[in-house]
Amino acid sequence: MAEARKKIQLKNYINGSFRDPSSGNYLNNYNPAIGELYALTPDSNEDDVNLAVKAAEMAFPLWSKMPIESRSRIMTRIADLIEQNLDILASAETDDTGKPLSLSNEVDIPRSAANFRFFANAISLFSSESHAMNDAVNYTLRKPIGVVACISPWNLPLYLFTWKIAPALAAGNCVVAKPSEVTPRTAFLLSKICDEAGLPHGVLNIVHGLGTTVGKAMVEHPNVKAISFTGGTETGRTIAAAAAPMFKKVSLELGGKNPNIIFADADLDKAIDTSVLSSFRNQGQICLCGSRIYVQRPVYERFKTEFMAKSYMLKVGDPRDPSTNIGSVVSEAHMKKILEHIEIAKKEGGEILLGGNQLKLKGRCEHGWFIHPTIIEGLPIDCRTNQEEIFGPVVTIQPFETEEEVMALANGTNYGLSASIWTNDIKRATRMADEIDAGIVWINTWMKRDLRTPFGGMKQSGLGREGGLEALRFFTEPKNVCIQY
Ligand code: NAD
Repeated sequence: MAEARKKIQLKNYINGSFRDPSSGNYLNNYNPAIGELYALTPDSNEDDVNLAVKAAEMAFPLWSKMPIESRSRIMTRIADLIEQNLDILASAETDDTGKPLSLSNEVDIPRSAANFRFFANAISLFSSESHAMNDAVNYTLRKPIGVVACISPWNLPLYLFTWKIAPALAAGNCVVAKPSEVTPRTAFLLSKICDEAGLPHGVLNIVHGLGTTVGKAMVEHPNVKAISFTGGTETGRTIAAAAAPMFKKVSLELGGKNPNIIFADADLDKAIDTSVLSSFRNQGQICLCGSRIYVQRPVYERFKTEFMAKSYMLKVGDPRDPSTNIGSVVSEAHMKKILEHIEIAKKEGGEILLGGNQLKLKGRCEHGWFIHPTIIEGLPIDCRTNQEEIFGPVVTIQPFETEEEVMALANGTNYGLSASIWTNDIKRATRMADEIDAGIVWINTWMKRDLRTPFGGMKQSGLGREGGLEALRFFTEPKNVCIQY
């Protein structure tokens, strides 16, 4: 029955036209909440990438020289159209990812519109430096780079795709972009929106397909001058190695293994409620999720008991049901990977306090890929469970005694993306924020975002920063001009 249903067929968007992949082949795209094949994604190759880069090169003189107000107006129109199509986009995002529709409606799609609106405004305020000397003056031009590549992952599909594309376009570049092959649907809908908004042909080209073919071809193309990538650390390493000999600019937003630290003097109710979110929101598939929870000994038992009780109350269910808190994970393969990690945790001596298994739902989602929120206790810092990114609804919890001890635990992985610290001692909060290995530190909150702030990680969580001026600087080439009086 299900197989007989007509599949949605996505197309590439190259030079303003909707095209089949040159191979004529398509990849299967599943709705993970119902475990059903529902769309076909172009299985593009190097030929499609070459066409897209050529289109972007041809569009570059027009777009880069267009008055900023005109560029900005088109981008604002794209933001408006994303908002006007909120229901369609949110529904597509949920079908593609398995995330609750409420999350797509309230976070993913509004933020995608906000990304375009923010950079449409930011570019009109973007200024460059001037350095006066006694007998000369320097001024710095910030020129668009040319054709740039934007490659994004599956966890926040349109949100992260637009987070890269918007600053690249605002700065005057032309873009060849690739969404994750696991969740390509909203990127396809975005191409229709860009067309409707009157984005000149070739300014944004969206090529669908695998990372190892399309992504690789984008990274290696000699006329692609910069690469903005968000995804796993190993993929980031491959991209960095390919880009380095060509001296391409790279911005790499990679994995995380973020600590969530709760001191005994914290507002515990708030810390517990927010920890439920920071552990399990989007099924724990957010790079910023706090996957290692450290709680100071005097409040450990209370925190643990209430955290477990509130996590137990989360409703895992049909993403289209408004009462659902946790939807399905993104794919069967990813579910298996998460379950394997849970088995590893058990072998390492971890005690499963909650969850730890696949959840079989009834009705519409009986074939979907769901996992219970999982809490694991009793593991040391140097085990795989506490070192490797699991990227699912799985957290470890552990007591600590002193600030020094928890600082060593927090900094005890190769990652350095984000950290949350819960305390009412402002001196301790700022001291820890200063010393912790993380590009983003939240004190008494989690995932509070201001699009003007630098966003990114240190150590193996990435290279460079996105957000606000950082993104506009990445997507421009500074050129200093010195005039002798
Ligand atoms: P992934 O690295 O497998 O894929 C990301 C993108 O890269 C996809 O579009 C993929 O097709 C492409 N790709 C794969 N191989 C490539 C290659 N050789 N050359 C060029 N492109 C290639 O990551 P994923 O599984 O889609 O996403 C999950 C990961 O993303 C997690 O590690 C998560 O922490 C990370 N992430 C990081 C951030 C951040 O801001 N730091 C945000 C979201 C997700």
